[in-house]
Amino acid sequence: MTKDDFSEVKELLSQPKKVVIIPHKNPDGDAMGSSLGLYKYLKNNGHSPVVLAPTPYPKFLHWLPNNDTVEIFNEEDEAKTNLINQADVIFFMDFNTLERIEEIKPFVDKSDAIKIMIDHHQQPDSFPDYTYSDTTICATSEMLYHFLENINEVDKIDAEIATCIYTGILTDTGSFRYASTTSTTHRIAADLIDRGAVNHEIHNNIFDGNTMARMKLMGIALNNLVVLKNYNSAYITMTRKELRKNKFQKGDTEGFVNMALSIEGVNVAAIFIEDLEGDFVKISLRSTGKFSVNQMSRDNFNGGGHINAAGGRVDLPITEVVDMFIKAVKLNKKEIINSNG
Ligand code: 5GP
Ligand code: MN
Repeated sequence: MTKDDFSEVKELLSQPKKVVIIPHKNPDGDAMGSSLGLYKYLKNNGHSPVVLAPTPYPKFLHWLPNNDTVEIFNEEDEAKTNLINQADVIFFMDFNTLERIEEIKPFVDKSDAIKIMIDHHQQPDSFPDYTYSDTTICATSEMLYHFLENINEVDKIDAEIATCIYTGILTDTGSFRYASTTSTTHRIAADLIDRGAVNHEIHNNIFDGNTMARMKLMGIALNNLVVLKNYNSAYITMTRKELRKNKFQKGDTEGFVNMALSIEGVNVAAIFIEDLEGDFVKISLRSTGKFSVNQMSRDNFNGGGHINAAGGRVDLPITEVVDMFIKAVKLNKKEIINSNG
């Protein structure tokens, strides 16, 4: 977005508006943090906002401020479809293609609301009226902070907004660990603490709610871990049977793929998880250094994401999806081995 675009958006938001804020399906900490942070900012400033999530999301995010106002979309529920039909403005938070909001897509396609995307994924689609995209920024939540800077509204960040933005940055940077974390990220985090985000409470809320089911599933994941030593790669599989037997709940496998990536010498890691409802496999990919799992996912797994974190899904048996991964790492052997060179 140019300076003029930010001025136009500021002007647009100078009068009360009906605003729908949409995170991606299966929203994560960054999608919900940025959406609920924007919600509170708009609410405080006389608008009528609502966060409309395409699907439910894990319990470890339900403590977020104003979580009780979030609507989960259902195409058969007129109250929900009307939110889109009657919106003046729609914000798209933390995704770059309408494929990632599933059943909401046709309603968005028909809507003549002003559409604004705030996102940090690679190669954004061009459907919005305003696209604020920056793939160098660690989290959409950090982008929300910059968005407010660009419209001179940082001083309107209250403790709840600060909490939401801090949460999104925390979860998308693996607790300020990944290469995307910059000195600016830390400066913003410090400012958010000054504005009322209680960092140790947020860390506890996100990371200290492990259930026995998640711990058991972690054991299975570690047991199923395979290292492809010659290709500096590793992968984990989780079958439907294993998930069911251990009372899997949404979010239980969050972060497992990082355990594979943390092994010495591993530059690319994947986890393959059979979906419990649909007949497909969900894939999460992670890398270190230059090797792009965004490209690997686009080429093989109908997905995308960032250079070092991407996802996708394939409608094939899990063993075939694993074979596709092994083929892909063999094909990219040189690039993977030299990823950190
Ligand atoms: P995760 O592995 O945590 O589900 O996702 C890693 C990154 O890839 C996230 O930034 C997420 O937005 C993106 N991603 C995950 N699944 C998909 C997908 O199916 N399609 C696309 N385009 N991106 C995805
Ligand atoms: Mn994100």
